[in-house]
Amino acid sequence: MAHSKHTKNWQQQLQQALLNQHPNHTSQPPEYSQAASGLFPHVVTAQMMNLVDHSKGLSDPILAQFTPAAAENINTTDYLNDPVGDHEATQVPGLIHKYHGRVLLIASGSCAVNCRYCFRRHFPYSQSFAPRKHWQACLEYIENNSSIHEVILSGGDPLTLDTKTLRVLSDALQNLSHIRTLRIHSRIPVVLPQRIDPEFLNWAAQLTFNKVMVLHVNHSQEIDSLARKKIAGLKQAGFILLNQSVLLKNVNDSVEVLTDLSQKLFDLGVLPYYLHQMDAVQNAAHFTVPEPQAIKIHQQLQAQLPGYLVPKLVKEEAGQSNKTSLF
Ligand code: SF4
Repeated sequence: MAHSKHTKNWQQQLQQALLNQHPNHTSQPPEYSQAASGLFPHVVTAQMMNLVDHSKGLSDPILAQFTPAAAENINTTDYLNDPVGDHEATQVPGLIHKYHGRVLLIASGSCAVNCRYCFRRHFPYSQSFAPRKHWQACLEYIENNSSIHEVILSGGDPLTLDTKTLRVLSDALQNLSHIRTLRIHSRIPVVLPQRIDPEFLNWAAQLTFNKVMVLHVNHSQEIDSLARKKIAGLKQAGFILLNQSVLLKNVNDSVEVLTDLSQKLFDLGVLPYYLHQMDAVQNAAHFTVPEPQAIKIHQQLQAQLPGYLVPKLVKEEAGQSNKTSLF
């Protein structure tokens, strides 16, 4: 479909987010900190900003996730730059082989948003993601390890790549008979749903692997009618859809919010998969929900919802080959 002069395509919207140009949202909440945006750039899409209730300030669950806030300028003991040890587990640049049977390919170093709690804020992506010219080395590693059955495209957000680039990668992987599943981890279906365009859906529908997409939605307010439509398109293209959330103080640390999220996701054919205890990432300690409280919220969720709508409460620990379950 041709774009009118006034409608931006997804690449233009992504560019606008990366340049932090949101003409309709020039005022910032009082907690906004220029110094914090120097630590990790302020990147958010117009799609997300349009779903904010500005009268709530940082109590709005979307604004809280994307606003560089003064609390980030505090250094907290025991909070680290690489809390999950990904730098250690990197095999060839851009390829992380941490779990049995599957590898993580950091296909893109960038995201459409910068979530303030993300461990990526310190991860040296400029050295560690796999730009296209390094894919050959990653593919050779995968080809030579027949115990690998699943390739996980992660990032950053792999859907910031255009579909032609994704096709180059999927064509190469489809030549490897031991690869049965392609999994994509992405926040884009909610933060930049415009990216799920017909070209992408055609590519996805033609893939011969098992296809899994793990969305990242933390609060049902992130899902608007456009996101709903695009998630339905993903399902139609053959993706098994799962969701992971990060448990975040003053964003989704209540049984009501998480129950509502699970139910709304299920309405869209998305199963809640993980609820992550936040990684102990430096400059984001103010988002931490203490572990005993996390366990209590999770127990309440179990009492409210059928088992298949209760995400597993987990945390990642550096050097462990599995996520640690917290219940
Ligand atoms: S989209 Fe994911 S990887 Fe990107 S900043 Fe947010 S949490 Fe981190």
